[in-house]
Amino acid sequence: MKKSPLKVIVTITLIVVALLVLLVVLVNRDSESFGIEFDEAPSTEGQPTDGEADAPVTVVEFGDFKCPGCKAWDENIFPQLQEDYIDNGDVQYSFVNVLFHGEESRLASLAAETVYAQNPEAYWDFHHALFSEQPDGNQQAAWVTMDKIEEVADGIEGIDTEALMEDIEADTYMDEVERDEEMIDAFNVESTPTIMVNGVMIDDEGTFDYETIQQAIDAELGE
Ligand code: CA
Repeated sequence: MKKSPLKVIVTITLIVVALLVLLVVLVNRDSESFGIEFDEAPSTEGQPTDGEADAPVTVVEFGDFKCPGCKAWDENIFPQLQEDYIDNGDVQYSFVNVLFHGEESRLASLAAETVYAQNPEAYWDFHHALFSEQPDGNQQAAWVTMDKIEEVADGIEGIDTEALMEDIEADTYMDEVERDEEMIDAFNVESTPTIMVNGVMIDDEGTFDYETIQQAIDAELGE
């Protein structure tokens, strides 16, 4: 039996439509599987950044210097991200302060913001050095003190420790800490570290394995 041209056209159209539907389903499933999608990535305006300004993907960490998970992230995941995505220009990384642990979080955040205001080049060294000072073990033990900040700052090139301590005492850059708190509210951050890859807030149930973050970045890069 000879097929009519109309039947052929209808069949091809149906196949094309079916493929498009499948594609839409697959694309949506891919992006949804990494977490909550926001309309926009968090703004990095006024925030410390690492990597190229024109990187196609932004990764924003909402973190707290007092949080053990954030220390683990900083020591285990961040260096891999830096090697694989930040150094080659694929990702611009940024950190927003979360103040979930009271006065110590406030002091650590203010100190970090003050270092950043004084010399952005010195920020990341201070950031990583402060995390490395977080003691293992008793998570509640107090360790963020003015003395500790002075000691950490003294060990980093490009920080004027005296000016730093004066500005911390005077709350000079408290506005920057408050700017971060507004972002925490805007993105409804409830735990730390919370990681956003462009507009996607990663939900991996707190496991933070490198593979998940890698897949989320690759999806945004279109790889
Ligand atoms: Ca900030």
